[in-house]
Amino acid sequence: MSDLSLSRKECPKCGATWINGQHIWGGTGNTGNELDLASLVCNRLGNDQCINPMKGSDGGQTWDYRAGYIDGKIDERRSMMETLKDTMGDV
Ligand SMILES: [Zn+2]
Repeated sequence: MSDLSLSRKECPKCGATWINGQHIWGGTGNTGNELDLASLVCNRLGNDQCINPMKGSDGGQTWDYRAGYIDGKIDERRSMMETLKDTMGDV
């Protein structure tokens, strides 16, 4: 039998949660990524209270990256709508 006890740690600074040493995204409960967390949150908000072991590391996702991703999706959709309009003519 495995040990079922959970160790839960929460960063006092950014509120990130680790379950048994695994970072979990708070909003979704999905498996987290300490490097992304560092880039998105801890490198901006963290101080010496922050318990993220990757704090101060570069290379994770950033909000710039995410914003670019979303912009790309919107452009994609817009050009799809325009193509559709060209195909069907003015409705
Ligand atoms: Zn933190």
